[in-house]
Amino acid sequence: MSEKNQKHGDDEMRYEQDPKGFFGSLFAPVAGYGVTFTSFFRPTVTEQYPFEGPFTMPRFHGRHQLNRYADGLEKCIGCELCAWACPADAILVEAGDNKPGAQYSPGERYGRVYQVNYSRCIFCGLCIEACPTRALTMTNDFELADYTRRDLIFEKQQLLAPLEEGMLSAPHPMAEGTTDDNYYRGEVTGPQQSQVDWVKKHRPQDATIESAQSAVTDRQPATSSAQEAKK
Ligand code: SF4
Ligand code: SF4
Repeated sequence: MSEKNQKHGDDEMRYEQDPKGFFGSLFAPVAGYGVTFTSFFRPTVTEQYPFEGPFTMPRFHGRHQLNRYADGLEKCIGCELCAWACPADAILVEAGDNKPGAQYSPGERYGRVYQVNYSRCIFCGLCIEACPTRALTMTNDFELADYTRRDLIFEKQQLLAPLEEGMLSAPHPMAEGTTDDNYYRGEVTGPQQSQVDWVKKHRPQDATIESAQSAVTDRQPATSSAQEAKK
């Protein structure tokens, strides 16, 4: 046998089916229904989205979020490391200088412009790994579809974490007697009276004053007793 014919014969043997036997041949015409029949008794797995929310895993990579410190200052310092780490060139950051009357984050600079282009983002998470202040994290929100490419570019205000109860909206001065190191180490646990007073003076209509004032008042007894214990 030529080499070519030998190879052809080997291929036929490789793809030849095993003989079915008597029962195999008898049930072969209805064997496919077995899968359908057993599926009748399995639990339904259809998700009723959007009427019932889908459940993502806790570490799911969804929409980005720019976080804040407990006193309301922004964590982003505009360093652009996230933008440089991004393999899809989906992030644009432009830093601005913090000024005495306009302090948005601890330290010298803050993220003045922050955009994520969700028509480019592949949700790999490299940007959040690169962020030195944990300003950038990813939420579980995946409902990002839209009709235009322009609407898929999310601006800073869409990405900023909402102000939690007790936070004071930025800009306002840093907590008295602190540096950016104190913020990075998590030593600032809420707004101070001096920060609330500053916002009262410069933005008396600010909606967060009341809640921040309550947070300061609530913390005072604990602070005083800690100081007394130290004496
Ligand atoms: S998740 Fe990945 S692709 Fe998306 S912005 Fe971050 S680094 Fe870029
Ligand atoms: S999110 Fe983080 S890495 Fe990106 S500019 Fe802000 S501080 Fe830098």
